[in-house]
Amino acid sequence: MKAKIWGCRGSLATPGAETVHYGGNTSCVEVSSAAGATIVLDAGTGVRQLGIELVARGVQQIDLLLTHLHLDHIEGLGFFAPLFEPDCSVRIHGPRPEAGSLRQRITGYLSPPFFPVPFDRIPARVEFEEVWNERWALDGVVVLAAPVQHPGPTVGYRLEEGTRSLAYVPDNEPALDRDAALVLADGVDLLLHDAQYTEAEYASRGGWGHAALPDFAQVVRSARPGRALMFHHDPSHSDSQLEEMEAVTRDLAQHDRVALGRECLEIDLT
Ligand SMILES: [Zn+2]
Ligand SMILES: [Zn+2]
Repeated sequence: MKAKIWGCRGSLATPGAETVHYGGNTSCVEVSSAAGATIVLDAGTGVRQLGIELVARGVQQIDLLLTHLHLDHIEGLGFFAPLFEPDCSVRIHGPRPEAGSLRQRITGYLSPPFFPVPFDRIPARVEFEEVWNERWALDGVVVLAAPVQHPGPTVGYRLEEGTRSLAYVPDNEPALDRDAALVLADGVDLLLHDAQYTEAEYASRGGWGHAALPDFAQVVRSARPGRALMFHHDPSHSDSQLEEMEAVTRDLAQHDRVALGRECLEIDLT
């Protein structure tokens, strides 16, 4: 299993000179299984460039796992090239919203007045699967979805192939629920987890659904992943500020394999 980060910014895409190194695209991670499955975690703006590459590679079956429907996790979807390929099949998995269905919310977003092309004119075959607290097999990869602490229905995912595993929890507020992420993250080889706020910032942002650095560090100390990447970087944080946060977090977590998520970073879990 291999993973590649196509976007790790939180909340809003943040291009510009101050964010060039860690990247400004919102959440999107590609996972390629050893057996050949293509799994995409969230469809933030990073999914645009990924889609171009998947079409160029001739990939025709894609499973898109959405953690929730906040715009930073779906705003790239209308620009995901495989949706415009008649031979492509895209299965979209995600939690059922409080009102309406996953299908209704996604097709409503990908239709006028929010999007120029009506959903029923999108050429690819698109299917929807609502998920919440469950485990299933996907082309040889075992997927676990479990609810996490965030405004509105939100899940995180754990993917396992053979003895290798990764957990993806981009939006989670551990201060309000210490254990939510642990069922997903316990002992994984690679953990990608929300680390949006400094401790000082979090003092005025409790309940917004994100992790302060001491809470991220607590998750790492409890879950003991092989490697942990800080994810969902705040739009206000420059590359140099993020590096200061990384140094603070390494001390808090007492773990030398804690680092910042970075756009284009590839991790080989084989
Ligand atoms: Zn988010
Ligand atoms: Zn969110």
